[in-house]
Amino acid sequence: MAFGGRYEKELIATANYISTPGKGILAADESTGTIGKRLASIHMENVEDNRQALRELLFTAPDCLQYLSGVILFEETLYQQASNGKSFVEVLKEGGVIPGIKVDKGTVDLAGTDEETTTQGLDGLGARCDQYYRMGCRFAKWRAVLKIGENLPSPLAIQENAYGLARYASICQQSGLVPIVEPEILVDGEHDIEKCAAITEVVLAACYKALSDHHVLLEGTLLKPNMVTPGSKAPKVSPEVIAKYTVRTLQRTVPPAVPGIMFLSGGQSEEEATLNLNAMNQLDTKKPWTLSFSFGRALQASTLKIWSGKKANVAAAQANFLARCKANSDATLGKYAGDAKGAGADESLHVANYKY
Ligand code: 13P
Repeated sequence: MAFGGRYEKELIATANYISTPGKGILAADESTGTIGKRLASIHMENVEDNRQALRELLFTAPDCLQYLSGVILFEETLYQQASNGKSFVEVLKEGGVIPGIKVDKGTVDLAGTDEETTTQGLDGLGARCDQYYRMGCRFAKWRAVLKIGENLPSPLAIQENAYGLARYASICQQSGLVPIVEPEILVDGEHDIEKCAAITEVVLAACYKALSDHHVLLEGTLLKPNMVTPGSKAPKVSPEVIAKYTVRTLQRTVPPAVPGIMFLSGGQSEEEATLNLNAMNQLDTKKPWTLSFSFGRALQASTLKIWSGKKANVAAAQANFLARCKANSDATLGKYAGDAKGAGADESLHVANYKY
């Protein structure tokens, strides 16, 4: 039986708000190592001032926050301020955007497997969640990673990651944070879309069994899955085909009690991710949840390039970010006209065996 605990009403309200059609999540929770790679790509040093500057560019971009219901932060960002002295948390809240926090501590290998992983960070998680709640966060993210291969994912990896996600979700809810359940199945590989659909179905079914076993209140959760696509080394298919397979997989596995499904972009180009989301929202079929975005790379990549760390480029970079936010907002309503393509929006953002 689900147990929401003392925060039950607030959890439901938070999850419903984040799932508001027309809005989605910006994943800006790159760990210090990951943001270092982003900064290196524009020849910037990985120091706190530069990390702060990138986040300020995004969070203060004119008119953008109206298209977002949540932003996922990395712990460092929670304690940072914009140059006008306002904390980033305040900037987001004033814009109607709920601050969220990445609470996992990355992945480690599962011994005896073909480099499959489990996610760390459960020890002391309750105390950290209490502190994040006091700092103004109302939702959290924990990324579990699975791989498709001839005999992958293994039953061990599926079980271990499903139960890890469920234990994390339970802890978050007892501290008032809505857990984003993220079982990311990497796109790496030569498999076709049928295989991705079959594996995604098994993984999601295991996750919802584990969430039920842990008494997690589904109305106070969000799902962040991969879209169902062919592998990175297989021929591409149209957004309509991706939409059909993805929504069918979700229909088979995700209970209607879940208010929102916020996709990760997983190395798709910005434009691909938006078109795929749009196609799903255009499908005329049963969809009891909001289908929206929680994109990292697909919301930031072209903006980062345009900025290139130069003050003179901030306005142009923010205008580009606005175009991507608006395009994805339109896609949550199935109304994206395909007209937001800017510099680099078609570029693949795939990196093999991606670590966040
Ligand atoms: P991408 O959209 O870059 O895949 O990342 C989203 C995310 O938060 C992964 O955990």
